[in-house]
Amino acid sequence: MKKVISSRDISELIANGGDPSTLPANALYTPSAIDLLNTLKVKPAGTASTTKPDSASAAPQCPLTRQVSNIESFFNSPEINQLKNDICDIGRRLWERDYVDGNGGNISVRVAQNLVLCTPTMVSKGFLKPTDMCFVDLDGNQKSGVKKRTSEILMHLEMMKAQPKAISCVHAHPPHATAFAVARIQPPTCMIPEMEILVGEAPIADYSTPGSVEMGKSVAALVKQHNTILMANHGVVTWGTGVEDAYWKMEIVDAYCRTIVFATQLGTELKTISRDKVQDLLKMKKALGIPDRRYELKECELCDNSEWHPGVVCGVPPQDKEATPSDLQAEELIKTITEMIVNKIQN
Ligand SMILES: [Zn+2]
Repeated sequence: MKKVISSRDISELIANGGDPSTLPANALYTPSAIDLLNTLKVKPAGTASTTKPDSASAAPQCPLTRQVSNIESFFNSPEINQLKNDICDIGRRLWERDYVDGNGGNISVRVAQNLVLCTPTMVSKGFLKPTDMCFVDLDGNQKSGVKKRTSEILMHLEMMKAQPKAISCVHAHPPHATAFAVARIQPPTCMIPEMEILVGEAPIADYSTPGSVEMGKSVAALVKQHNTILMANHGVVTWGTGVEDAYWKMEIVDAYCRTIVFATQLGTELKTISRDKVQDLLKMKKALGIPDRRYELKECELCDNSEWHPGVVCGVPPQDKEATPSDLQAEELIKTITEMIVNKIQN
């Protein structure tokens, strides 16, 4: 009987320092295991192409198992230089969409078993340069780069340790999703298909001081089942199989939260997609290998928005309108003119 290998088996193998490319080719792999191997660009032993790879066509190595001996030359290699440009591009997109402010936000990409490329501290994400980037190990020690690494990298590293599929993490403060994080209201579900498939539930991680290990731990506790996490009174962090994939989650969650806020102001109860149709979306999502807590739930439990209390009402009653400075000036003028008229009559 053939051995069955699940994504969990592969994750445990990697966590124990094993190499997934040594897995047997003649075993049975579950769909999520195949997806994880594809994500990691790994083929089990014996299934690799017999054509001799040359340096131009060789498949990129799996970042989870890659060992780097000369860190400085790897930092300046064409492969890493391309990733530095990709991070600058994503930084610019975050800034142009108002997802980051001041020097806020940070981006990381895992490039080797114990090496992560990340953004520096104190630089606007809209104006990053490739030469600003840093290498850190999985404990957060800086290994390369002239600028100091972001203090929030500790959160990214905790996420990568807890979720092997998290090759890239993006953190930002997009205003609509951050509004939910400040109100500590988890966005309701089952409203828009794209959100259900690519993101799903966006839970709220407890507040901790930015840059602290505690912050990383509270987010990391959620990344096995969620790729997008709202950070209470702070912002949003997402993970993906690449930097663009992680960034997309940021766009999707903020657009979703904005739509929910607008829809709530229309003054009618929000309607959900029917549960059987949500079940269809979850089947598609599972086939894509994207985690979701709700795979384990019964159909009747899928769209439980009982925690959703928007508390928003439409319109402001006219009597609540506060006097503005120009109102006060006009009142003062009327009073002066009235006094002048009264004086004139009395004289
Ligand atoms: Zn932040």
